[in-house]
Amino acid sequence: MKCPFCSHEELKVTDSRNASEINAVRRRRECLKCQRRFTTFESIDLTMQVKKRDGTYEDFQQDKLTRGLEFACRHTKISHDQVRKIAYEITNQLIEKQVRVVESQELGEIVMGHLQKADMIAYIRFACVYRRFKDIDELMEAIRCNTPKNEEDRYAIKEK
Ligand SMILES: [Zn+2]
Repeated sequence: MKCPFCSHEELKVTDSRNASEINAVRRRRECLKCQRRFTTFESIDLTMQVKKRDGTYEDFQQDKLTRGLEFACRHTKISHDQVRKIAYEITNQLIEKQVRVVESQELGEIVMGHLQKADMIAYIRFACVYRRFKDIDELMEAIRCNTPKNEEDRYAIKEK
């Protein structure tokens, strides 16, 4: 691991604790060169697989899910902590159902369900990637149907 500020490789862990609410270990690290501090999260390994559209399998990684969600939630009202919480909730939902294999499409639907509850803009962004609307009209229809009234002005979505 490297320091995110200066890329130095010698780091010391100043604090380590279980972040049980997100299935992870939270570590506070300090760079021995520039002395700056940052936090890392290490996810617990889970034996679940994702079946992709092309039929191949890959191990389910909560980290990867978190990164995907973070991408979808940029410039939205969802914080990094909320993103981790959502990823955790989705993971737990699958664990509780004792899912061994989840299809990527199904996973996408689950994610969209969570995002829809959390933030409409994040939901739309994610939906664009994962659902692949047939055309822009369909996308606009989805925005129009799902955007609360007060949000409509804010994002300048006009009624026809
Ligand atoms: Zn550094």
